[in-house]
Amino acid sequence: MATERTFSIIKPDATRRNLTGAVTKMLEDAGLRVVASKRIQMTREQAEGFYGVHRERPFFNDLVSFMISGPVVVQVLEGEDAVAKNRAVMGATNPANADEGTIRKVHAESIEANSVHGSDSAENAKTEIDYFFSADEIVG
Ligand code: ATP
Ligand code: MG
Repeated sequence: MATERTFSIIKPDATRRNLTGAVTKMLEDAGLRVVASKRIQMTREQAEGFYGVHRERPFFNDLVSFMISGPVVVQVLEGEDAVAKNRAVMGATNPANADEGTIRKVHAESIEANSVHGSDSAENAKTEIDYFFSADEIVG
């Protein structure tokens, strides 16, 4: 298994409850290394572009409004099999279905306010990293 990178967002429900450190610790404890990180307020245009694949889904407008309701922390995570490792520590989209000990089981408020985003493939990870970071902001 090769070292790879994935993209993560600590969502507004988590930053609002001052959980940036708690969530990051769970990522680090899972074997992921934070090689880039910044706290930003997303614009509506940025959030709509990021979630473009979900544009036709019924929850799209609510999701965009939620993602711009407060600051988020965007991060690049590096490690062995980082995409799958991150998805595993995140837990299921709906916290009601998430495994014990996962970030969403421990911290998420709802299927929408579910504390973290994580890329679902290496290809999407690259696109998502490039959407928020320039190469000189990533220090592995
Ligand atoms: P993410 O892409 O944020 O890592 P995911 O891959 O587990 O999460 P997706 O199916 O890609 O889930 O949905 C993207 C986001 O949209 C979810 O994380 C959640 O915030 C929101 N979402 C998904 N399904 C619903 C739903 N049925 N109702 C409300 N919000 C939803
Ligand atoms: Mg997704």
